[in-house]
Amino acid sequence: MSFLSTLLDIQALDLASDAARTRLETLPEREALPVVAAKRVEISARLEAALADRVSREGEEGELGRQVSQIVKDLEAAEVERYSGKRKNQDEAASHKASQQQLHEKQSALEEQEMELLEAIEEIDARIRTEEAAHAASQVDQERIEQVIGKVEMEVSAELDRLAGERRAIMTSVPEKVLSTYDNVRGQAQKGGRGAAILADGRCGACRIKLPSLERTKMLASPEDALLQCPQCRRVLVR
Ligand SMILES: [Zn+2]
Repeated sequence: MSFLSTLLDIQALDLASDAARTRLETLPEREALPVVAAKRVEISARLEAALADRVSREGEEGELGRQVSQIVKDLEAAEVERYSGKRKNQDEAASHKASQQQLHEKQSALEEQEMELLEAIEEIDARIRTEEAAHAASQVDQERIEQVIGKVEMEVSAELDRLAGERRAIMTSVPEKVLSTYDNVRGQAQKGGRGAAILADGRCGACRIKLPSLERTKMLASPEDALLQCPQCRRVLVR
């Protein structure tokens, strides 16, 4: 076995490492995470708006309630005065009646507004419950996704450690120059992470080019472990 066949073993380990990294990079959960996070931000914003809305409506409702109690007090005071035994002339009595009537009307109007506000507050409460439920559900979603990512991260990290260990164990049997040439070609774009290729029937196993016969003869004449590269794709050729 020449070190060149060891180079193919190294390539197999490197491709397995690439696949492990790709698995992590292309994990659907990694794309899903920012989507869920953005959704949670939206839900939080809607929830906050609903809570603020509720505070403001409650304030309005409280203010109306105070106005109504004031009217009720005014009406009571007027009634007390009316029956206090103070004599009143006809004009005074009529004016008293009119003002009582006005207060009653105002009270009804305010109470109607209050009812509308209470209904609006009920609707806001329903909105708050919906958003709170959505928020809780999105939290469960986010935690589940983070768990999946964390699990795959650990698996990939262990796999990469194992592959790196195997690579270290065999790489010492490959001359530095061959390994660095292989690494260099492997790192280039459009090489599919492959820095080595099998030479068979005069063809490069990667780019499939047929070597010119002169080149081929030269290669066959060179020592078995000589560093040979494909004239087209520059991959290290393994005979
Ligand atoms: Zn080639």
